[in-house]
Amino acid sequence: PELLQRQDPEVARLIEEEQERQRTTLQLIASENFASRAVMEATGSVLTNKYAEGYPSRRYYGGNQIIDQVETLAIERCKQLFGAPYANVQPHAGANANAGAYLALLEPRDRVLAMRLDQGGHLTHGSPVNFSGQIYDFISYGVRESDPNREWLDLDQMHQLALEQRPKLIVIGATAYSRIIEVDPVREIADEVGALVLFDAAHVAGLIAAGVYPNPLFTRSGGRGADVVTFTTHKTLRGPRGAAIIAHEDLGKSLDKAIFPGLQGGPLEHAIAAKAVAFGEAMDPDFRQYGQRVVDNARVLADSLSAEGFRIVSGGTDVHLMLVDLRDFDAELDGRTAQVRLDRSGITCNRNQIPFDPRSPFVTSGLRLGTAAMTTAGMSTDQMKTVASLISRVLRTDDDQTCQEVRREVADLCRSFPPPSER
Ligand code: PLP
Repeated sequence: PELLQRQDPEVARLIEEEQERQRTTLQLIASENFASRAVMEATGSVLTNKYAEGYPSRRYYGGNQIIDQVETLAIERCKQLFGAPYANVQPHAGANANAGAYLALLEPRDRVLAMRLDQGGHLTHGSPVNFSGQIYDFISYGVRESDPNREWLDLDQMHQLALEQRPKLIVIGATAYSRIIEVDPVREIADEVGALVLFDAAHVAGLIAAGVYPNPLFTRSGGRGADVVTFTTHKTLRGPRGAAIIAHEDLGKSLDKAIFPGLQGGPLEHAIAAKAVAFGEAMDPDFRQYGQRVVDNARVLADSLSAEGFRIVSGGTDVHLMLVDLRDFDAELDGRTAQVRLDRSGITCNRNQIPFDPRSPFVTSGLRLGTAAMTTAGMSTDQMKTVASLISRVLRTDDDQTCQEVRREVADLCRSFPPPSER
């Protein structure tokens, strides 16, 4: 960025340093990806200058003739991509999309069933330090503690809690869960108790778009699945930072009202243009292959880590991410220590509690790893085997020399797989 370089070398230098970090280290954070250059150009466009409170053809400001077309294009592409009757592309982030959905569907203190935070749920699924837990009455279901299906979503528990608590809404979808969540049984439970269903597809939206994860708006037989689906556009969907909501037609009016004027002011039309670009990219047949490769890579990474002596939570993965239980590998090694050691070796990931974790959320016994970003960079199953062996090497020893050696090997590997914006 030449102009930035001249005008504000301080910021320019930091951007360059971050670019260098992204280019030379492995990005295994499950919620991250590399957006295309086209997505970034739209994000950095003059659309950032425009105020457009309201919705296409219902704006509170003049001069929105072009902006209306931009947002309409994003809405129409979003609907087409997910076969959705309704879409709202204005949520600034996943947390806002969930806040908007709650505002549309609930009254304060209404009862909501969602996944336990320490077993994969998100902050906005009722954490006491989040607006969701403060405004609504969340009750949590979790995963099974023992076989059969250890660490898989416990539908019996969800059913039981639904019967006892009579929630107004059941939230499914997670931030650290590696198995497919089928909407069909949840729809049945919800119908039995008269609840609505919200699927938080923040993580898996790209996999749904690619057809490698079932579309939660519909049941397997094509009936009504989730009433509302929220998702972020920057994770597996590979778009700009932001979010969107899709739903069935009857909820459209209240969802629109909840996002604006209920929750947000002016929409970020530059981000909305970039979402349109990302939806366009996701409609390309190449994106189906991308989704399949993400999942294939995750499976091979999980299998290779198992072969190195790590235990994969729930026994494996169907999606782009996995939770690694470090305790079998080394009972003394905690998630925080592992994350720091991997970071020093150029392997970027985050520590994560595993279900029934004896350690605190700050320390943890696990790591969360995802393949969305490195698959975008072009890595395939061969590289995943290498990555697993590098992770194992770093975590087996506690010396700086190994970290330095692995860091060099990582940089060599990354040189062959640059982010798309560098090609
Ligand atoms: N919901 C889930 C399941 C998530 O994993 C996330 C992101 O981490 C969010 C919501 C929130 O998204 P954002 O960080 O864009 O607010």
